Amino acid sequence: MLGPPGAGKGTQAERLAAHHGVPKISTGDILRRAVQSGTALGGSAKQAIDSGNLVNDDAVICIVRERLSCADARSGFILDGFPRTVVQATALDAMVGTRGALIVLDIVVPEDVLVQRLASRRICGACGANATADTRQACLKCGGPLVVRTDDGAEIVRERLKVYQRQTRPLVEYYSARPTFRAIDGNQLPDAVTSGIDSAIAAAVAAGGARP
Ligand code: AMP
Repeated sequence: MLGPPGAGKGTQAERLAAHHGVPKISTGDILRRAVQSGTALGGSAKQAIDSGNLVNDDAVICIVRERLSCADARSGFILDGFPRTVVQATALDAMVGTRGALIVLDIVVPEDVLVQRLASRRICGACGANATADTRQACLKCGGPLVVRTDDGAEIVRERLKVYQRQTRPLVEYYSARPTFRAIDGNQLPDAVTSGIDSAIAAAVAAGGARP
């Protein structure tokens, strides 16, 4: 699932994963957990995350390669926040190999809307789940406190959007000629985006022979 920070990838990826009974693999979540638990990976990722930059390709590719080899990802998976560079996309193609065609969904949202969304975003400080507009007091999943992400401050958000344009946006060109690529209007209510995604997946499966 492609798209800039704040496009709603995490929310939609979670819904898709639940609907299809496959794991949602979010490199951002994995990295934040590593930072929280003070692992070596977390130590090296923290500076990049807190400054709005990308963690190095090798580390992230290694995380995803390991995760995709787990049994629960055998029949499919939803990737949220990966790939973010052409190097990562090339590595992903090699990892997927003959398992089936990737369905690539680009969630499109205007920049001014992204900035507004990120300014009001909260996540659970305990489990990392996204808070939705109707759960502003405590996490619906675990009851944990809702906090602002360390990289959602205005200045860092500006940097993350620049990084997206420079390093991640080129992936639209990388994937756009594939029959399984679809752009989705992400500037709608979450349920409408979910419907758009469901239709896009059906069309991508029909066009590209990917497995639903
Ligand atoms: P996210 O939760 O997807 O917005 O990711 C938060 C931060 O984690 C990003 O701003 C990056 O610093 C780092 N990160 C997540 N995914 C990747 C990736 N695929 N490549 C490099 N850095 C990543």
